[in-house]
Amino acid sequence: MNATATSSLQPARDARQSAGRYSGWRLFLEGLTGQRGWPQAWAKATPRPRYRVVVVGGGGQGLATAYYLASEFGITDVAVVERGPIGLGNVGRNTTIIRSNYFRPENVRFYDYSLRLWAGLERRLNFNAMVSQRGTLNLFHTEAQRDLFTRRANQMRLLGVDAEAVSRGAVRALVPLVDLDNGRYPVLGGFLQRRGGTVRHDAVAWGYARAASAAGVDIIENREVTGIHRDGKRVIGVETTRGAIAADTVCLAVAGHSSHLAAMAGLRLPIESHVLQAFVTESVKPLLDVVLTYGAGHFYVSQSDRGGLVYGGAIDGYNSYAQRGTLPMAEEVAAAALTLMPALARLRVLRQWGGVVDMSMDGSPLISRTPLDGLILNGGWCYGGFKAIPAGGMATAHLIACGTPHPLAAHLALERFAAGRTVDERGLGPFPYAH
Ligand SMILES: Cc1cc2nc3c(=O)[nH]c(=O)nc-3n(C[C@H](O)[C@H](O)[C@H](O)COP(=O)(O)OP(=O)(O)OC[C@H]3O[C@@H](n4cnc5c(N)ncnc54)[C@H](O)[C@@H]3O)c2cc1C
Repeated sequence: MNATATSSLQPARDARQSAGRYSGWRLFLEGLTGQRGWPQAWAKATPRPRYRVVVVGGGGQGLATAYYLASEFGITDVAVVERGPIGLGNVGRNTTIIRSNYFRPENVRFYDYSLRLWAGLERRLNFNAMVSQRGTLNLFHTEAQRDLFTRRANQMRLLGVDAEAVSRGAVRALVPLVDLDNGRYPVLGGFLQRRGGTVRHDAVAWGYARAASAAGVDIIENREVTGIHRDGKRVIGVETTRGAIAADTVCLAVAGHSSHLAAMAGLRLPIESHVLQAFVTESVKPLLDVVLTYGAGHFYVSQSDRGGLVYGGAIDGYNSYAQRGTLPMAEEVAAAALTLMPALARLRVLRQWGGVVDMSMDGSPLISRTPLDGLILNGGWCYGGFKAIPAGGMATAHLIACGTPHPLAAHLALERFAAGRTVDERGLGPFPYAH
């Protein structure tokens, strides 16, 4: 390490030391003194020319990977390189739902591990991420759907994960605004996972960034990776908008930009980028205290602590890197919302945005080595990488530190596509619009 690099670390260390622990007493004191004493949450690091691990992408997955590398595996020579500010990617754009109600046993185990990590996360990070295990309720509308949900619930229970069948009457009591008898898709019942719920999405990014920084990770914002350096079949670092950074291991955790970044290294991934939209209504008094999903269309909704209804639907259905979304899908999602809960027609939509999701060809994510030595991939999260941030970060850190897959994520390797062992949760085949 050269002298410049050493001295440039000093401010970062100072900020790390002063971040301290949040406490009720501190909150009280800051309230009396105008909230002026808070230090910056994470250090603005000055990059070094070389790291043991460079994580590309400062979203939830990248930050969690860096945090667990430092805190679980003692690897602190780590940089997270993010092209914008922390939290503006999908980690801060999603509809905040966490759950583990999957069908495939390996998926149930992986996502339930995440749910268990969420439950203790705020204490561990010393950051209020508003983890709210308020329950997720999936509605069904046909006998065939009842069979599918029952099968899924049985599978989960056999694996020791909570799932409950809910009668029509119980659905009425849980969500009185639902029109159970609507002519086209009457509600027959539901399937409840009480430990599912929501987490305040951007607080997750901030909490992990703060904890990773305090553990010694350099978080480098506003620096885009523009190339990946190789020496034959080995990746040796990245090129960025402000110079090269060498690394023993480069980990791509760039969500919707996975195929773009992999192409820089000469790899073609089984991933397509699609836009997924989210919507928030004006705030109203509490009217929905579970996460609700509609079974006759793609629509899911929860009520935020500020009172707005946060909802979303399916991907727009064409490849794009624009974080906007189109009106036809906004209309389709609104139509599903009103079929389910006609009273919502009186609410105004305040905000709408899009995120670029990395749709894999079997609907399951990738936490994997690649054909290139020193290049690790965390991606292919489709609709669901937010709930998987703790488990995804832990499993990716494990893969980097130990060189072997985490036992709960071994099924997520890239080789599965070549070997014909796809993890196709719903048997829909390689069609992103169908996932
Ligand atoms: C509208 C919407 C709703 C969703 N709802 C849910 C939900 O309810 N529950 C759920 O589990 N999941 C949900 N998801 C999916 C979830 O948000 C993502 O799967 C997950 O956030 C992806 O991981 P990430 O947080 O690391 O991604 P991101 O936050 O997108 O992180 C990737 C980062 O890489 C950076 N990057 C890209 N290219 C470069 C480069 N060249 N150089 C440096 N940095 C780069 C980006 O700027 C970005 O910050 C939703 C997604 C969207 C869009």
